[in-house]
Amino acid sequence: MTAPDPALLSLNTATVRAQWTLAQIIDGCARHGIRRISPWRDQVAKDGLQATAAHLRATGLELSGYCRGGMFPAPDAAGRAAARDDNRRAVDEALTLGAPCLVLVVGGLPKDAAGTPVSKDLAGARAMVRDGIAELLDYARPAGMPLAIEPLHPMYAADRACVNTMAHANALCDELGDGLGIAVDVYHVWWDPDLAREIERAGRARAADGTSRLLAFHLCDWLVPTHDLLLDRGMMGDGVIDLPLIRSWMEAAGYRGAHEVEIFSANHWWKRDPDEVLATCKARHATAC
Ligand code: ZN
Repeated sequence: MTAPDPALLSLNTATVRAQWTLAQIIDGCARHGIRRISPWRDQVAKDGLQATAAHLRATGLELSGYCRGGMFPAPDAAGRAAARDDNRRAVDEALTLGAPCLVLVVGGLPKDAAGTPVSKDLAGARAMVRDGIAELLDYARPAGMPLAIEPLHPMYAADRACVNTMAHANALCDELGDGLGIAVDVYHVWWDPDLAREIERAGRARAADGTSRLLAFHLCDWLVPTHDLLLDRGMMGDGVIDLPLIRSWMEAAGYRGAHEVEIFSANHWWKRDPDEVLATCKARHATAC
């Protein structure tokens, strides 16, 4: 494997969210020569949508995605309507920011207001996800905003996403059609014995206009041991994921997009000097991916 093109490096802004505001992250990336970012909605809301769009234009940074929409299942029709309305706002924001796709973390079992699951009907939750994506596509497709399903590791099936494999994401794309694709996050899918085949399948399934189903590629590493299910992701090269191998599958499937570093790390990287974190992301992208 040759080293990846450094111009493809993108920073998911969660990686230094504990240390910096979004404005500081944008300036930091510009300073370090990282030309792409993928921001989160709460960070954009805090700094202001128009101010963020202007800041991106001023620095010349581009987006590799926008995080995130989804969370479709809800215990009642009012909850699902609220999710629908919020997802439409996410599409509008993604358009304002010039994002290439809106990433969908689809949601798990329906929950009450306190966040406690109120149902064990996993198949029903998956049906709500399917219906929610179909409805959102009716809004996003004519607006020209691709939706990227991010399959999450099965340990999040109850609370975050009940789409847990590339095969499930590919099946939803097959069913729901153009305007829908997949965000491949190595942390969530590296263990899957069908990963190579499903990446190849996603690359083969092109829309009528030729656009690929592979919309995003998220990088970090799986640490052994992992101390927290959510907030103990590793820096590329510090864990057990064969990143160059998965990148080779993505490239063989035609993916030419960004390599987005996304590290939630409460006890390590979120406690480091953010300039050091960005420098480490750049170095590891060159040597470990
Ligand atoms: Zn991700």
